[in-house]
Amino acid sequence: MSFLRFLRAAWVSICAQPTKKSKIAAIRSFVAALRSGLVPRKTAERRLAGCSNCPVYDAERQTCGDGAFVMIDGERLQNGCGCYLPMKVWFRKAQCWLWERSGATRGVDWDNS
Ligand code: SF4
Repeated sequence: MSFLRFLRAAWVSICAQPTKKSKIAAIRSFVAALRSGLVPRKTAERRLAGCSNCPVYDAERQTCGDGAFVMIDGERLQNGCGCYLPMKVWFRKAQCWLWERSGATRGVDWDNS
């Protein structure tokens, strides 16, 4: 993925936010993530390939689930973080949502090198 496509992905992700407040929050988190640095292209591609095999992955929107909350057996659970993955996989400090939430028992341990 070229840098221009990366920037386009960031723009699409920010524009997809429903409110002005959430757009500003998305811009802030984008800048913070960008400051953490980017991984090499091969690492980003490996991460994205892992996502495409994940049951949470929304192939149509290319997101980690839809981020919506659902009630299952009386427990409020989230379906993914809703992040636009062609962008998220580039951030060095980003982690697989499921891996973080499950205490590293499920999901993918993303390579941060
Ligand atoms: S849970 Fe992890 S592997 Fe699955 S789509 Fe989200 S970030 Fe990718």
